[in-house]
Amino acid sequence: MNEPQETRRGRAWSIAPDVAEQIGPEQLRRMNDPEWDSLLMCSFCGEEVPSDVPAAAIVLEISGSSVAAALWAHETCHPSQILRLTSDEARVRFPALHEPGGSDVEVAGSVAVIDDEGTELLHPMLTISYTTEVRDRGHAESTDLVTTALLRQGWNLITTLEEGFADGPRGWSVYATPRPGGLTEVCLMGPSGPETAATIELPELWFTAAAERGHVGVLQGPRLGWEAGTGALERAIRDGRLTGGVVPVVVTG
Ligand SMILES: [Zn+2]
Repeated sequence: MNEPQETRRGRAWSIAPDVAEQIGPEQLRRMNDPEWDSLLMCSFCGEEVPSDVPAAAIVLEISGSSVAAALWAHETCHPSQILRLTSDEARVRFPALHEPGGSDVEVAGSVAVIDDEGTELLHPMLTISYTTEVRDRGHAESTDLVTTALLRQGWNLITTLEEGFADGPRGWSVYATPRPGGLTEVCLMGPSGPETAATIELPELWFTAAAERGHVGVLQGPRLGWEAGTGALERAIRDGRLTGGVVPVVVTG
């Protein structure tokens, strides 16, 4: 006699049909994985959404931007829907979006040792981890909308961490501005202005490497969790969702 299978309930979600269509079945399924039980921050009140309280999924489309973002909220703070805003409106309504520790993107700097034809060289790195994953309808399983948009911008699909990275898209650069108190403002600048900005701690060696190389290796992917080593990077590579490239770095201030 068959015992009924005990199925994991996963996180409680509140997702409107048009949002579900944007996110896509593969991503919806993934959102019931155990990793989603923990730490989901509400983009509206800034508090954590416990896994037994329905979390509303909101798709944020910024006019003029190629990247759609998924935001999470307490259902009581904001219902699940597709929001179409200008970047100014988004900045006012979601001031945390581009802050360090904000719910949307996290930035970290590190220094990598890369073998350059027998010589080990220090390379400054910038890792941009996004917590948003919006599934492209009808697209390959292994690609989400953010990755799709980054590839369209000209970033490379990263398939190994063992080799140096190819050049990033033309017209992109990183600005690093040390501030009093030891933190540094970093900004990933695209052809039409700042794309990602954060105030972070950078090791002294990062500046040494940046001065020597004149460029920085940028890695972008979902939930990279760099504190735990390269495991998350390897997973993003396996999923075909790690993009990056080498762009000029300018240290100011
Ligand atoms: Zn809330």
